[in-house]
Amino acid sequence: MESHAITNVKRKKSPASAPQPHWKDEMASSFSCVGDLLDYLGLPVDPRLGNGEPSRRFPFRVTAAFAGRMKKGDPDDPLLLQVLPVDQELLERPGYFADPVGDLLSVAVPGLLHKYHGRALLIATGACAINCRYCFRREFPYAGSQLTRSRQSEALAHIADDASIAEVILSGGDPLLLDDRRLADLLDGIAAIPQVRRLRIHTRLPIVLPSRITSDLARILGGTRLKPVLVVHANHANELDAKVGKALQALHNAGVALLNQSVLLKGVNDTEDALAELSETLCDHGVLPYYLHLLDKACGTGHFDVQEISALALYEGLQRRLPGYLVPRLVRETAGAPYKVNAFQGNYLP
Ligand SMILES: *Cc1c(COP(=O)(O)O)cnc(C)c1O
Ligand code: SF4
Repeated sequence: MESHAITNVKRKKSPASAPQPHWKDEMASSFSCVGDLLDYLGLPVDPRLGNGEPSRRFPFRVTAAFAGRMKKGDPDDPLLLQVLPVDQELLERPGYFADPVGDLLSVAVPGLLHKYHGRALLIATGACAINCRYCFRREFPYAGSQLTRSRQSEALAHIADDASIAEVILSGGDPLLLDDRRLADLLDGIAAIPQVRRLRIHTRLPIVLPSRITSDLARILGGTRLKPVLVVHANHANELDAKVGKALQALHNAGVALLNQSVLLKGVNDTEDALAELSETLCDHGVLPYYLHLLDKACGTGHFDVQEISALALYEGLQRRLPGYLVPRLVRETAGAPYKVNAFQGNYLP
């Protein structure tokens, strides 16, 4: 067991009175009231907000770091639109469901989704630093799948029992909201399972809370015997600023492979220019685009939907314009399918 453990992680014993790490303070001072954000942006009361019911159903939350990249005075800023709880969320639309991707069908043990061959996905926490209105997990019953200590043992036992699992994916919520000690302990547990080769982390924190990427964290991620792969989530080039760049650089220096996934969102990134600029900016920061998801049809997200025919036209344009390695795979999550299904099946026709 010990031979797999993380060895070069310094675990400082800090006295109870020690100050919070900067990132925790920053989390605590996030915007949790839409009015405060609009004030900050110099925007008037927004009629799109309706009576505030959407944010009672799915709380409003955005970090100051992310809000700081929104354009002041622009009600249609692509970052603002991702977090603004608008009245349209309340519209009931046919074809929208609480669990559009069939996650609840693939729960192996509480908190562990085993949906695809060779990969098991562990819900490390239900919490996020930012609440994205288009999120397909907005209705996921997190309270029932928090990773308690006993669930962690149960999940690790399930993984250990399945020789086919070569990759463990930490997801959520945002797994990097676990503190360093808890995360290092979890990584030790995973690394102790001999057939697991890769650790993948799906996180939005390098983008929305770059201060979370401390040198301690980089050491933890780089210090495991597992190959670390980190999939960040940015939808627009404006989400990447110098601080984000520094965080990504630190991860890269620690030996972490960096990929990005995004969601095709009406009003946010549904132009060829926006998508091309996102890919190029990611590449500037050493991140390769991995997936561009068509919207998962979760209740309350319909106003972000881009018609499939427009999506395909955009995608064709991207392919003409960018090197192949900067074109993400356009995929649709299909409940019951054994992989994320390519939306673009067409051949080139002159
Ligand atoms: C997306 C996803 C994965 C990973 O799929 P990849 O195609 O390998 O990125 C694994 N498990 C679940 C439940 C997923 O939703
Ligand atoms: S899980 Fe990801 S997409 Fe969903 S709210 Fe959290 S950060 Fe946003």
